[in-house]
Amino acid sequence: MEQKEQKKLLLEVKNLCKYFQISRKETLKAVDDLTFEIYKGETVSLVGESGCGKSTTGRCLINLYTPTKGQVLFDGKDITKLSAGEKKDFCKRVQMIFQNPYSSLNPRMTVKEIVGEGLNLHEHMSIQDKDKKVEALLKTVGLNKDHMSRFPHEFSGGQRQRIGIARALAVEPEFIICDEPISALDVSIQAQVINMLKDLQNDLGLTYLFIAHDLSVVKYISDRVIVMYLGTMVESAETEELYGNPMHPYTKALLSAVPEADPHIAKASQRIPIKGEIPSPINPPECCRFAERCEYATEKCFKEVPKLREVAPGHKVACHLMDEKR
Ligand code: SF4
Repeated sequence: MEQKEQKKLLLEVKNLCKYFQISRKETLKAVDDLTFEIYKGETVSLVGESGCGKSTTGRCLINLYTPTKGQVLFDGKDITKLSAGEKKDFCKRVQMIFQNPYSSLNPRMTVKEIVGEGLNLHEHMSIQDKDKKVEALLKTVGLNKDHMSRFPHEFSGGQRQRIGIARALAVEPEFIICDEPISALDVSIQAQVINMLKDLQNDLGLTYLFIAHDLSVVKYISDRVIVMYLGTMVESAETEELYGNPMHPYTKALLSAVPEADPHIAKASQRIPIKGEIPSPINPPECCRFAERCEYATEKCFKEVPKLREVAPGHKVACHLMDEKR
């Protein structure tokens, strides 16, 4: 990745909150005060256990959910305040690849119709030109012309995800939110899809927000990583820095669980267990949300919300242990 200073800021997320009112007294705080930015051409990953708010964040960024508080700026514009023309432009520039290639494709539509749908919405093309474009898109994702007349059920999981990617690429987006794009696929297919996403990024200059829980894949694909826990950011840094020097107890525990191919390193590294389950995001306590599961928790951790601090250039951590290091 080039130096960030030379990069264009594409997306700014400012104090994003997404709450769901469950009942008169209960509020589910799926995302709570999240701030980060994404530069053109980079891949930023959001990681954390199920229920930490990763997918809700992705849905806010593509305007499927309206933020409860905070702002999402795409190319400097608040995505909740776009005019009709700007909305159309936004839909063209930002696309999403969904987790489940089985349910995200309409089973009654042929591949030609599914991939061509985006072209119907955004381009005024002749039928011949559209067919040529669909054929080219299928070629880009490793499929061919013969697949155009088939239906989704005639494909394997990996092929269906390729169709989903071709559909996203149809409108020539700049920014793609990849929401767990490989978690429903066989391990043997996962590497193919990841490598294809990387190649497409190089060829087309795409920017990705990659939502995942597989930390080996995240290490391979990301420029920067944001670790979320119960709706909040607990740590973020460039990939090499985060994997080489994790500081938040939750990040350390997550990384210690990543399988290591080298038996010598695997033997030397110790797995750090996290006690208990991720608590409910309904009415979360006003303290460190990881406190109940953290082996380093002190009295202060149960009383005060730790602030996100920059502890090294580009490396931010929200933990009271960092206060002692200052
Ligand atoms: Fe653990 Fe306290 Fe840091 Fe939270 S603030 S992660 S409880 S040490």
